[in-house]
Amino acid sequence: MTTLGAKIGFIGLGAMGLPMAERIVNAGFETFITVHRRREPSEQLESLGAQVLGTPALVGQAADVVITMLPADQELKQVVFGEHGLVEGFAPGKILVDMTTASVMSLREVENAIVQVGGRVLDAPVSGGTTGAARGTLTVIAGGDPGLLEECRPLLSVVATRIMHVGGTGQGKVVKMVNQVMAALNLFSIGEAFSLGMSYGVSPEILYDVIKTSSGYSKMMDLKLPHFLLVGSFEPGFKMRLMKKDLDIALESGRSKDVPLTLTSLIARDFAEAIENGNGEADYSLLAQVLANRAAVNFNQKKEN
Ligand code: NAD
Repeated sequence: MTTLGAKIGFIGLGAMGLPMAERIVNAGFETFITVHRRREPSEQLESLGAQVLGTPALVGQAADVVITMLPADQELKQVVFGEHGLVEGFAPGKILVDMTTASVMSLREVENAIVQVGGRVLDAPVSGGTTGAARGTLTVIAGGDPGLLEECRPLLSVVATRIMHVGGTGQGKVVKMVNQVMAALNLFSIGEAFSLGMSYGVSPEILYDVIKTSSGYSKMMDLKLPHFLLVGSFEPGFKMRLMKKDLDIALESGRSKDVPLTLTSLIARDFAEAIENGNGEADYSLLAQVLANRAAVNFNQKKEN
């Protein structure tokens, strides 16, 4: 796959997958997709030139390289091993690039099955969010054979400006997992500490302005204060239920290596409660406002007046 003539399959056309697949189609790759639940994303891509096929197996047959960008382990396994799954269509020489934030354990199962039919797997989760997906400025956190990464680089460059090789298959998932734990903890710390400040009458704008050049700063402040918390808008972005899924992956991974995850297990309970209260589809930054609600304060101060 060294030229832009390669045939690409793309499965998982959600908040991330749809804009990424759009870039791939627009870059001139012959692209094969499926329909899952909502027809609109596939219709949108079809109007740009993608071909809609009936099953993942058919996508596997038609494409040289298949990208999966699915919610989590369960959906990834369903697409790969389920009825008319990808493995049925795979053959020697084909490549699966899995960009899902899934667990190392699931990726290994997927890799074994793909290797058995002669295929190869690149572990390639991403960071950079929906904006990065639309602009093609994602970071790919690649695990796997360095030669395979080089083969895939022309394709990955369509969606990413930073492509990092971090180790063998599964190490990409590990690095992504660490990022997710830190992102959730940083968001939680903004929710908790800002609530304290606001309860004493300091506005969140002043807190942000001061702390952005102080030791309490995290990039999460830039990501989640101006466009989400300070304006009270929680259109995702990255859904609460996906962040809870990432914390569960971390907790399970920690258990299997006897690594204590004290803070992660504490905050996972608050994410679970917010989801039980109907907030699973909101952007996960809403968790900080949930903490603020407990202190009877609001990040969106206009709402208070
Ligand atoms: P999403 O829920 O918006 O999209 C998932 C898509 O997968 C949906 O379109 C769904 O219909 C499709 N899908 C589910 N099961 C399927 C199946 N069996 N066959 C075909 N399609 C199926 O999720 P998202 O925000 O796009 O995230 C996708 C992955 O990327 C997740 O693992 C997430 O953790 C990760 N991620 C998300 C972001 C973000 O900002 N949203 C950033 C980095 C990484």
